[in-house]
Amino acid sequence: MSEVGRTVGVVGLGSMGFGMAKSLIEKEFQVIGFDLSPERSQAVAALGGRAAPSLGDVFAAADFIVFSLPTARDVESVVSANLDALGKRRGTRVVIIDTSTSEPAVSRALAAKLDGLGIGFLDAPVSGGPSGAATGKLAIMIGGSPEDVALARPVIEAMAAKILHVGASGAGNIAKLVNNLLVAAHMLTTAEGLKLAAAAGLDPEAALGVLNAASGKSFLSEVHFPTWILSDRFDSGFSMGLMRKDVRLARELADQVGAKLPVTEFVGELWAASKERLADSDDFTRMGAVAEGKPKDA
Ligand code: NAD
Repeated sequence: MSEVGRTVGVVGLGSMGFGMAKSLIEKEFQVIGFDLSPERSQAVAALGGRAAPSLGDVFAAADFIVFSLPTARDVESVVSANLDALGKRRGTRVVIIDTSTSEPAVSRALAAKLDGLGIGFLDAPVSGGPSGAATGKLAIMIGGSPEDVALARPVIEAMAAKILHVGASGAGNIAKLVNNLLVAAHMLTTAEGLKLAAAAGLDPEAALGVLNAASGKSFLSEVHFPTWILSDRFDSGFSMGLMRKDVRLARELADQVGAKLPVTEFVGELWAASKERLADSDDFTRMGAVAEGKPKDA
């Protein structure tokens, strides 16, 4: 039986959205999931949720709707295709929690348009990867009104261990782009540090151990390099295509606001140029490969 405020739609059930659906089901929310891939929708049913036959069913039934979609364009198109269904929800303030790494201008425009229909829209991108999503331990950075954040808080708490409401609409997206710009930079600088160590005769594992005991460390050196890069696993669950998108969006944001960021320019060029050797579907940790010339699929 549907309980008011406990039905959560999850749209986009990929590496992140599927884990979020799992965390919500474990916290006893009634989850209705939809993905363009019917197999992914069905996988939510196997967890104890419900597979929505169409997007419209999610928009008609859910009290809260979590998006985990690749790009801002996907977010815009999913919302526009369902404006009629949302219009019919007048009287209940449905809140959309958009966890996609999206664009501040798009989020602001959607939040303003949806507010006119009595629907809340939070830009609420996340950090913590597929494992953080599946364990309800994401960090979530939110832009939007305090009232909508308060309404959506139980749903957000089921997905995230760190909740940072950073400002008005668009602020969550800005925070996420800044975060991922630094991830992109740390990936390159850490890989270069380890290449220098190797070229000078020091084992990269030993060099990494020093960084992580000293002041050159980052989250990337502590987690990504030992887990996915030096281990040659390259299966973090975050794709090159999505990371290149994030770096591009950070550069575009810098252009839009007139920020002069020479390091960002260079980091952006290196990530954009990687398209020639790494496919969109490759794991983004391949950008940190320390050993040169290793076959991609070795
Ligand atoms: P993914 O490619 O694994 O999953 C995206 C899913 O969305 C796919 O299953 C796809 O079929 C579905 N989809 C696309 N368009 C759709 C539509 N119109 N309707 C319904 N479903 C649709 O991507 P992901 O890695 O889960 O990332 C999702 C978002 O989260 C992205 O914006 C990404 O940048 C961000 N993100 C990813 C990670 C990570 O580690 N993977 C971490 C933080 C943030």
